[in-house]
Amino acid sequence: MTNGSVRTIIKQYVKRKIPGVNVIRAHMSIGAAMLINLSDVLTSEGMQISRELPLEMTCFESRMGSFPITASTPVSLRIRNAGAGKARLEGGVKLTFQTGCDRCLTEVSTELELRFCRTVVLKAEDEDADELELTEERQLDVETFVHNEILVNWPAKILCKEDCRGICPVCGQDLNKGECGCDTFVPDPRMAVIQDIFNKNKEV
Ligand SMILES: [Zn+2]
Ligand SMILES: [Zn+2]
Repeated sequence: MTNGSVRTIIKQYVKRKIPGVNVIRAHMSIGAAMLINLSDVLTSEGMQISRELPLEMTCFESRMGSFPITASTPVSLRIRNAGAGKARLEGGVKLTFQTGCDRCLTEVSTELELRFCRTVVLKAEDEDADELELTEERQLDVETFVHNEILVNWPAKILCKEDCRGICPVCGQDLNKGECGCDTFVPDPRMAVIQDIFNKNKEV
């Protein structure tokens, strides 16, 4: 591959708008309604609280980029006491976000269904990944909680379709839209040497 073709690919990548990158940072308000006080449920035996809250997050922001959330069910939460200073949190949310196909960068809508299943503790005794430690105010910040759940459940691969053909490594053409005719065969330099010897012998 020549330097020229590498530059072409970079140019193609820059020209193709990578989804989310230019989205204006969405307003993410954390109102009082999104904080749930867990003081009672952590200390009172048999206590249980249930909440259905609208998701206020309109854009999922992470180091991977910004992904607009286009639809969401309410966040459902059931928290019940599970001993002194402990509670079990269950529930879920289903949301749709916009992202780019991992192979061709085409914008795709992806649905993510999250099921929550965590133990809430006032103070973590050991490092249990399932445990969620609360602040001194004993409040659960629902938006931050959902944000972290999205992060750990982020799909490993997002494709526009199962058999997406991606983009041509030479010219950057979306191969789902047709062949570009580029020679994408990269010969192994070791094979080239053998080929030379073979050709030489033929000449003799
Ligand atoms: Zn694709
Ligand atoms: Zn090409």
